[in-house]
Amino acid sequence: MKNEPCCKCKTELSTVRLRHTFYCNKCFTYTFVGKYRSNVNRSKAIARKKGKVLLACSGGPSSIAMLHLTSIFMVINPNEKKKVAMIPSAVVCHIDESALFKEQEGSSQKLQSMVESKYTQLSYIGQAMEDIFDQKFSGDTDFDKTLKNVSGSNRDYEHLVQVMQQPADETNKSKGQRLRDLFDNINKNTAKEDLYWNIKFAMLLTIAKREGCDYIFMADSSTRQAIKMITKISNGRGYSIPMDVGLEVDSCFKDVVLLRPMKDMLAKEMGMYNRLHAQSND
Ligand SMILES: [Zn+2]
Repeated sequence: MKNEPCCKCKTELSTVRLRHTFYCNKCFTYTFVGKYRSNVNRSKAIARKKGKVLLACSGGPSSIAMLHLTSIFMVINPNEKKKVAMIPSAVVCHIDESALFKEQEGSSQKLQSMVESKYTQLSYIGQAMEDIFDQKFSGDTDFDKTLKNVSGSNRDYEHLVQVMQQPADETNKSKGQRLRDLFDNINKNTAKEDLYWNIKFAMLLTIAKREGCDYIFMADSSTRQAIKMITKISNGRGYSIPMDVGLEVDSCFKDVVLLRPMKDMLAKEMGMYNRLHAQSND
C-alpha cells in the first residue's frame, strides 16, 4: 500500500485503503466529510428548515465521528450566499445504560468531559435509562405507543405495563433494579432487544421535544444497519424497515424528524476518521 498514490490528488502517497480505493489522509477526510454533508442535505426537512438538532450519542465510534462532523457544519461558510449554518445549534444526548451494563459505569462522565472540553458549541445532556420510570418520561403520550411496538408474547407486554405502572412509593426497589427486573422477566431475546431500543428512542424523543429540537440525528452506520436489517427480516418484521433504517423518517412523529447522517459509512471509515480527527472513547 505504501507505494500506491492517492486516487484523488494523485500526488500524495495513500495511507488508507477503503472499498478497494486508495486515499491520502487529506482526500479521505474530504470524501468522508462530503458524504456526511450530502446525507444531511438529502433531507427534505432540513432543506425546508434549518433547526436545532439532538445528537444521540452512545459513545461508540460512529456517534463520536458524528459529533465531530456535526461541529464542522455548525459554523457559517463564508462562501455561502445564505448566512446560515447547515446546523445552527445542537445538543448531545447520551442515555446512560450502566444500570443494565455494569461495564459502562463511568462512561457517561467520560463522554461529558470530552464533549465539554472539545466541543464548546455543544451542550451535553446525560440521562440515566432507569429515569424512564419518572413521570416526565412515562407520562408522555407517545411513550405508550412506542412501547406497544415491542414484539413478544402478550405475557411480556402485560409484564411491561405492570412494571411501568407500579408507583415508585409502592416498591422499595431502586429505579435501576426495576429496570433490570423489567428486562430479566422478558423471555424472548428479540423482545428484550426491541424493548431496549424502544425505551432509548422514547427517551430521546421526549428529550428532543423538551429541548425544542426539530431533528434527532442517530449515528447508525451502514455496518450496524445491515445487522439490524437482517435481524428484522429474519424476525419476519420486514415491514418496519423504513422506520428502523431509513435515512429520514418524518411521518411517524409530530414536530421531530429523525435522520441517520452516518448511513452508508463503514465502521472502518469511522475508525479511521476518529483516529485522524476525533477523540475516541477508549
Ligand atoms: Zn490525496
